[in-house]
Amino acid sequence: MTIAAPPPDAAAAQRLAAVRARIDAAAREAGRDPAAVTLVAISKQQPDERIAAVLAAGQRVFGENRVQEAEAHWAARRDTIPALRLHMVGPLQTNKAREAVALFDAIHSVDRPRLAEALAKEMARSGRRPACFIEINTGEEPQKAGVLPADADAFIERCRGEFGLMLAGLMCLPPRDAVPAPHFALLATIARRHGLAGLSMGMSADYAAAVTLGATHVRVGTAIFGDRAPR
Ligand SMILES: *Cc1c(COP(=O)(O)O)cnc(C)c1O
Repeated sequence: MTIAAPPPDAAAAQRLAAVRARIDAAAREAGRDPAAVTLVAISKQQPDERIAAVLAAGQRVFGENRVQEAEAHWAARRDTIPALRLHMVGPLQTNKAREAVALFDAIHSVDRPRLAEALAKEMARSGRRPACFIEINTGEEPQKAGVLPADADAFIERCRGEFGLMLAGLMCLPPRDAVPAPHFALLATIARRHGLAGLSMGMSADYAAAVTLGATHVRVGTAIFGDRAPR
């Protein structure tokens, strides 16, 4: 009997298994149900064969940060893989609301009234209702998207009241060099105040810490796929 050489993309499957195991361990250690944490595999800027490998390894929830790239990666696959779920995690232009609502099952980057309104209108028109997360700029970084913590309460209330948007939760992206835990804790505090169950937080470098602090969605790219190609 000959032993087949592993396919060249076996590394992606192994990394996916390792990430899942770490999520499970972090959840159990925190007394949480690992099934309450959704792993969103961020496939932006990844070659097609790696995406295929991660799909073959059983992953079904993927995230992208650009509408056009998401369509290139997923439009055809969506028709043949019914369990596939796509999450938009990047900045969204208001004029892309229609495409975003059509393609994605969740949008993590709702961060301004015009966008919230455009999404709500498009959901009413199309009947599709992707889960919406409001992005909070927990580090108050001027160049970064997201609602400032001081404006979060008013914006959340406006989304629910004025725009009639069904909110799933909150999302944050801590400053690159910051210790992430205080940002995760702040996000959880704001969410609790509004009875929001969803917490989209944690990336390759810090997803275990995010799970400890209550993340329901971790967005992990390079730890699963390997380094991204430059744009
Ligand atoms: C790219 C990206 C991620 C994944 O980052 P990694 O460090 O590769 O895990 C998560 N969230 C957002 C919003 C991203 O743009």
